[in-house]
Amino acid sequence: MTLALLQQWLDQRVVPRLPRAFRQGKMPYLFFFEALLTLVLLSFPLINPYHQAPMTSLAYGVAMMLQMVLISRGMPLRQAIHLICLLGVIYLIHAAWTSGGLLSPRLSWMLILPVIPFYIIGPRAGYVWLGVVFTAQVGVAVLTAQGWLLQALPSDHAQSKYAFATFAIVTVMLVLVPLVYDRQHRAALRESRLRQQELEKKQAELEQALDMREHFIASVSHELRTPMNAILGFNSLLMKRVHNKPRAQEILAHTSQSADHLMTVINDVLDYSQFLSGRLAAHAETFALRETVRHAFDLFVPRVKSMELAYRCEIEDDVPEWVSTDRHRLMQILVNLLGNALKFTHQGQVVLRVKWDHPGVLFSVQDTGIGIGFEDQPQIFNRFIQAQGEIQKRYGGNGLGLAITQGLVELLEGEIGFDSTPGQGSCFWFSLPLSAQSPPQAVKPQAATVLQTASQAWQFLVVDDHGLNRLLVKQVLKNAWPNSTVVEAENGAQALELWRHQRFDLVFMDMLMPVMDGVQTTQAIRQSFTSHGLAPVIGLTANVNPQDLQRFKDAGLSALLLKPFEPVKLCDEVEALLLRGAPIASVSPAP
Ligand code: ADP
Repeated sequence: MTLALLQQWLDQRVVPRLPRAFRQGKMPYLFFFEALLTLVLLSFPLINPYHQAPMTSLAYGVAMMLQMVLISRGMPLRQAIHLICLLGVIYLIHAAWTSGGLLSPRLSWMLILPVIPFYIIGPRAGYVWLGVVFTAQVGVAVLTAQGWLLQALPSDHAQSKYAFATFAIVTVMLVLVPLVYDRQHRAALRESRLRQQELEKKQAELEQALDMREHFIASVSHELRTPMNAILGFNSLLMKRVHNKPRAQEILAHTSQSADHLMTVINDVLDYSQFLSGRLAAHAETFALRETVRHAFDLFVPRVKSMELAYRCEIEDDVPEWVSTDRHRLMQILVNLLGNALKFTHQGQVVLRVKWDHPGVLFSVQDTGIGIGFEDQPQIFNRFIQAQGEIQKRYGGNGLGLAITQGLVELLEGEIGFDSTPGQGSCFWFSLPLSAQSPPQAVKPQAATVLQTASQAWQFLVVDDHGLNRLLVKQVLKNAWPNSTVVEAENGAQALELWRHQRFDLVFMDMLMPVMDGVQTTQAIRQSFTSHGLAPVIGLTANVNPQDLQRFKDAGLSALLLKPFEPVKLCDEVEALLLRGAPIASVSPAP
């Protein structure tokens, strides 16, 4: 404790006041050691009984002081230490020679000499000085044995031998102890480095496995989304054609519902994987809150029609009109909670309530359904958890919905919770820190504006390796602009060849294609065909990995649509680019 206080005092008060060269690393210790030694050397003459000793002691003290000056003037530490040791050996040989040789107590000072370079420079310097000190002791032993000392001693060989052996052994021991300690320390260090390397290797393997898993999930999701694009797209085109045939519409509605459900599962798995890897990001935008809540609510109206349920949406008057957060994620949360409430409620009511709850907005979905068993409630937000095995068998589901919902609410910096009584119903609520915003300047155009440009004879190029996807885009474009021309290419190389001979108003580019992919083709179009003017290029992709999306955008795309896309969104985007020269959004989310 006292030592620690002393150290603190030295570090805080004394060290900052030392000459600059003595402030860093081991230098303060060297300074204190030299200062102490100098003090001892200068004060020793007062008690030193030996002839000539005061002079040599003073001389060595002055030499030490000089050396400190040299160090503060920039002398390297190594040289300084070697110099101290050399002067020390000379001084001590002289001191021993004048005061009894091997039998002189002054020789014991030589013991500490190798320790100084050992700690300050390193073990090798310690060994060198151990050798020098040893040789010096042999020298003093010879002086003593030959009787060449300044003051003659009664010759006693046994005593001299014993003194020599004592000094030699103590010197060796003095260096051996720190040496053993040093070896052990190094061995422990080596072992801990080895362990660290092993851990790093394991971590790299784990990261690689995680990367592979993500890559796998992303490619599976891509493979699933690509055909879903055709299924949902053609379904929606067919719906329009059979608007006067209720039976056909009913069947198509079933297909559409099942496809939507499949899309939810695919998106859940993908979102969860991104959520785990910390890549799920929120993209805030200013939007109409009531309209969004209504939209989420309305999605389930067709389903509720066939159920005996009261299905209501209550939005209080003081809820702000315009707010700023990730609209797509908010929709996802509402859809998940409403979907669950309707899934587990067979009679009674499901009510979606939205109210202002300072300092944010509180959303709640209350149902009169089966409720959640008290024993299941603590872990209901855990992934893959369903209340009981029975429920999975009866209602299906993957147990990811609530885990993702919780993750999304946290992503939007909100809080989520629920109350539930088995057999009576549940109320899931979440609050988001939303505040009133002024409406955005450019409000998204409505799909109806397509009609105003229906007579345009635009030239489109559709680049996609999937024939069905090309056909779908072509159909959507032809339906909206019957006078337009749609040319198709199976890959980037074909597209560039076509581009050389013909001018297009707008290009649809699939991003993943054999031979030449969307990134390369867009870059080539941007670099080589500037004379054609900056024709807009709309990217189409089933890949939703945020890094890949960024890479696609950086290639020079004017806009990017995620597959499966809504036909009306695609038309909106074409109009926005061809009439106003600006995209609606840089990435339009998939439904
Ligand atoms: P799943 O996709 O299997 O429904 P969720 O994570 O959405 O997965 O829900 C997990 C479990 O929580 C469900 O299996 C169900 O047991 C319970 N649960 C969620 N919402 C409700 C609700 N509104 N009423 C009753 N039980 C619910």
